[in-house]
Amino acid sequence: MSENTNNIENRESVNFIQKIINEDITNGKYNKRVHTRFPPEPNGSLHIGHAKSICLNYGLAMKNNGKFNLRFDDTNPATEDESFVKSIVDDIRWLCPEWKDEPLYASDYFDKMYECAVELINKGLAYIDDLSSEQMREYRGTLTEPGIESPNRNRSKEESLDLFTRMKNGEFKNGEYVLRAKIDMSSPNINMRDPIIYRIMHIAHHNTGDKWCIYPMYDYAHPIEDAYEGITHSICTLEFEDHRPFYDWVLANLDDFKDEPTQQIEFAKLYLTKTMMGKRYLKQMVEQGLVDGWDDPRMPTISGIRRRGYTPEALYKFLEDVGVAKSQSVVDIAMLENAIREDLKEKAPRTMAVLDPIKVIITNYPEGQVEYLDAENNAENEAMGTRKIPFSREIYIERDDFMENPPKKYFRLFPGNEVRLRYAYFIKCNDFKKDENGNVVEIYCTYDPATKSGTGFTERKVKGTLHWVDANNCIDATVRLYNYMMEAEDYDKTNFLEKLNPNSKIILENCKLEKNIMDYKIGDRFQFLRHGYFIIDSDSTDNHYVFNQIVSLKSSFAVN
Ligand code: ATP
Ligand code: MG
Repeated sequence: MSENTNNIENRESVNFIQKIINEDITNGKYNKRVHTRFPPEPNGSLHIGHAKSICLNYGLAMKNNGKFNLRFDDTNPATEDESFVKSIVDDIRWLCPEWKDEPLYASDYFDKMYECAVELINKGLAYIDDLSSEQMREYRGTLTEPGIESPNRNRSKEESLDLFTRMKNGEFKNGEYVLRAKIDMSSPNINMRDPIIYRIMHIAHHNTGDKWCIYPMYDYAHPIEDAYEGITHSICTLEFEDHRPFYDWVLANLDDFKDEPTQQIEFAKLYLTKTMMGKRYLKQMVEQGLVDGWDDPRMPTISGIRRRGYTPEALYKFLEDVGVAKSQSVVDIAMLENAIREDLKEKAPRTMAVLDPIKVIITNYPEGQVEYLDAENNAENEAMGTRKIPFSREIYIERDDFMENPPKKYFRLFPGNEVRLRYAYFIKCNDFKKDENGNVVEIYCTYDPATKSGTGFTERKVKGTLHWVDANNCIDATVRLYNYMMEAEDYDKTNFLEKLNPNSKIILENCKLEKNIMDYKIGDRFQFLRHGYFIIDSDSTDNHYVFNQIVSLKSSFAVN
C-alpha cells in the first residue's frame, strides 16, 4: 500500500477536473477559490457510486485548500424522508472523518428561490402557464420536432406575478398552474423548451413544514443552491450534461449570480459488475424485504459496505484506482475486493477459525493436559507480535480437511496420512468414526511430540498444513458468508428482483473460534487463516459473537 492513499487529500493523480481547477486558479477565476459540494436527495441511503462523488468533491476541496459543503437537495417533499438525512450524514462522517461541518439544506433557500423566480418574471423570462400536463407534453415536441409555444407564453408580467403570488398563497389546487422559464420552444435541447420551474404541491416539507405549497423544480433550484453557497465547481454525473445549458441560463439571468456563475462539470457514474446500483432499485430490495435493510452487508450502500467490514481507506484506494472519467464504464468488483484485501493484509490480526468443525482426538496426548503454543498475529507484519494458543487432546478441524477416500493430490488428512497443524505438531490419522447415517463424526490421530512448531524440526516433510482450534478452549460463533446478490450476468433494472441470488447469504452456526477473540469488540476485523477477512458484527452480544465475511482470501475471478 502506498502512503498517499491513506488520506483523501494526499491522493496524487490529477484527473480532468483538477486540470480545469488548475486552469481556473491560474486565470484567477473565482478569486482562486475552490468550493465543491455533494448534493444528495434524502430519498434513500447512499451507495458506493455516491462515495465516489463524495470523495471526488471532498478530495478536490481539500487538495486545493478549498471548502466542501454537504447540502441536502431537499426540494421535493413528495419523495423525501428525514431518516435518510441522518443516515447520509453518518455515512459521510465515516467516509470523511475530518469533515466536521454541519449539513446545509436547499430548503433553507426557498425564499431566495422564490425571489429569483419573481426576478425572472419581472424580466419577462418566466410566465405562468395553465396547460394541462397532457397538453404540456404535446406542446413540448420531440427530439426531431420543435415544440409549440403555449398560448399563455405572452401573458403579461403583472398577471404572471399576481398568479404566482396566489399560487404561493395556496389559492389553487395541485397542477392548476405552473411557472415556466421563457426560453425557446424550438431549441434542439428539450430542456430549454420553456421548462417548468415551480409547481403547486400541497405537501408539508420535513424542514419548512406547511410554509410552502409551491416547490421549485430540481433543474431550476440546483444552480441557485450552488451559486448561493458560493460553489465554484458543481460536479455532477453525465446524465446532467444536457441540463447544463439550462443551469447556465438560470445563473446568467439572475443579477446576484451572473457575474461569477458556478460552473457545472460532469463525470461518469461508477458502476460495478455483479452489483445493482441506483437508489430506487436498492429501495425496492429493502421495501420488499429481500435484504436485511439498507445496511445489509450484501448491499452496495455505504452503510452496507461499512457493516460488511470495508474500511474508508480501502474505498479511497479503490476510487483512486478507478479514476475519474468522462465516459461510462463498468468496473470489475474484483478491484474493490482487492482494495480491502490490500488494506487489511498488514492491519488485521490473524486467527484460526473452524467454520465447519469436525472433532479430532489425539489419542496419544495426555488427557487433561493443556499446553500453550506461540502463534504469530500476522505473518506479514511482525510488529503485531504473537499470542499463546491452547492445545490439548481434542481439537476441531474443518470437515473438508478430512477425506475417507481422497483423490490424488489431496494433501490434507486421510487415513494413514500425516499433516502439520499450524503452530502445533504433526498429526497422523489412524482411524475415524461414523454415525448411523454414514457421516464421519470423529477422527483419531496420534501426534509426534518431536515435531513441535518452532523447534526447528526438519526430519520429514508433510505437504498439508491445517488450521484448527482447541476443542476444550474455544468459543462458538455465528459466521455469515456472502456471495454476490447479482450472480447471474443477465440482470437489468427490469428483472433484477427475480434474478437475486438465493444463496447470497449463508449463515453458519457453531463455528469454533480461538478464545482470544473475546479480547476484541464489535467492528474489529480479522483474517481467519485460509478463509478470508471477517468483522465482528453489531448483532454480537456479550456472550455470542457474530461475524460477517468481508472478503475471501483470493479473488474468485480474474482481475483486469
Ligand atoms: P441514484 O441514481 O442512485 O438514485 P442519484 O443521482 O439520484 O442516484 P442523488 O442523491 O441525486 O442520487 O445524487 C447525489 C450525487 O451523487 C449526484 O451529484 C450524483 O450525480 C452522484 N451520483 C449518483 N450516483 C452516482 C454513481 N453511480 N457514481 C458517481 N456519482 C453518483
Ligand atoms: Mg437523483
